[in-house]
Amino acid sequence: MNTMLNLTEFEIRERRLRSVISYHGTASDLNEKSKKTALKCGSRTYQQCSDCSQGCAETVTYLIKDAAVIVHSPIGCCSNPSLTELQGEVVTRQRGLKPQRAQIICSNIREKDTIYGASEKLKKAAYAAKERFNPSAIFVHSSCAAGIIGEDLEAQTDQLEKELKIPVIPVFCEGFKSRIWSTGFDAAFHGILRKLVKPPEEKQADLVNVFNFVGNDTFSGLLKKLGLRVNYLVPLTDIRTISKMSEAACTAHICETLATYIANGLEKQYGVPEVKTPAPFGIKWTDQWLREVAKYTGKEEIVEQVIQSEHERIQPELEQIRERLKGIRVYIFAGDSYAHSLANMATDLGLELVGLTTLHHDQKTDGNTEELNTLNHLIKDKGEIENYSVCNKQPFQVIKIVKKLQPDLLIVRHMNMTILGTKLGIPSVLEGDVNVSAGYDGFIKLGKRLHEALLRKKVLKTIADHVELPYTDWWLQEEDPFYFDGGNKL
Ligand code: SF4
Repeated sequence: MNTMLNLTEFEIRERRLRSVISYHGTASDLNEKSKKTALKCGSRTYQQCSDCSQGCAETVTYLIKDAAVIVHSPIGCCSNPSLTELQGEVVTRQRGLKPQRAQIICSNIREKDTIYGASEKLKKAAYAAKERFNPSAIFVHSSCAAGIIGEDLEAQTDQLEKELKIPVIPVFCEGFKSRIWSTGFDAAFHGILRKLVKPPEEKQADLVNVFNFVGNDTFSGLLKKLGLRVNYLVPLTDIRTISKMSEAACTAHICETLATYIANGLEKQYGVPEVKTPAPFGIKWTDQWLREVAKYTGKEEIVEQVIQSEHERIQPELEQIRERLKGIRVYIFAGDSYAHSLANMATDLGLELVGLTTLHHDQKTDGNTEELNTLNHLIKDKGEIENYSVCNKQPFQVIKIVKKLQPDLLIVRHMNMTILGTKLGIPSVLEGDVNVSAGYDGFIKLGKRLHEALLRKKVLKTIADHVELPYTDWWLQEEDPFYFDGGNKL
């Protein structure tokens, strides 16, 4: 038995992966220090914004087709459903699926409940969810309020499971618990592994689990070249598919930050091998990924042929794109591992990488395997990155980093960060749907999108000329963007 599944709660990232939220220096220095787990997750002396683990847990659970989610929290913590509802319409269409609704209820913990207890409210919400949505399972998200008053979610969900006769899964995603909001991914996956995934009834030799967010279906085409099928997990799928993920031939993910926790758990618990190489972003990393998938699916004989013909197919277009992007200086801002994938693609496309910021940094990987250390792969393949920082968003800081380095182009993973680029007059490309850039075709598409973004330079310059940044002259003139950075001391 996998010991992590015996535990009601999982270990937060700061302890499990020794994750940090601040660093500045070089990529190789960070990598070497991380190998010795020498950095501490310090704090900042000033912080402009933050996020909550609950947001990442939502990303995993809100759009499971036949599940309901109860957010056991004050109403303010449950502010995302309308956005998810809108997203649900768009993202299902992108995937070629029927539009679907998010099925969410907030238990609405109020001041009185924090004194007398909120269990009744949770029960009422669970019964309402069963009656309103008739779901195949209910997820119960915890919150700071539920955690602080000591709600016994494990006992409550066990009881509700007996009464409602469907799985009721606690998700321990209290915002105060971890400074790394990606911990919310682990919280949701821990619940899924413990309560939903069943032992395999029949192995499916051509099925590849791909943990991703929502987004376009680009992996089907890539895997079809090897005669394989994709099993997208877990948004936009259903509880039955989730419960049978142990039947797949292997497990991959579009980002190590998202899913190594569950991929490692699946391997340990059910023997489903995890694809231990960086996700398929960029030519060499796609080649390696396909070879690794082929190893677990008996496709080794055809994989080299597929790789060669894909290289030949994209070569003419790739040469043109590289020519257009040659010498363009780019800065990248994204969550931990996906930033490395973006940097790999950008340099593969011939751009000059002037720096990179990740939202946090995991010093270790789940399963503690060096093959999944994407920073190490990036340095090995592309060399040193002189300006490497870790910063949990903080626009006041990012603006200074970017202003100092003056890149021609920004690639960002989150919507609000493109606005920063606009304010500085720098064309910014949003990598909102990461599936789009996967594989050989995705790589070419990214190149085209980067080139198109550069064509907007003039209009952005005009906007920037009229923007007033909301910071004092002192901060704008201060030399050090990391002035408020508490460093890696506790
Ligand atoms: S759970 Fe905590 S950190 Fe998250 S939104 Fe609610 S109060 Fe804020």
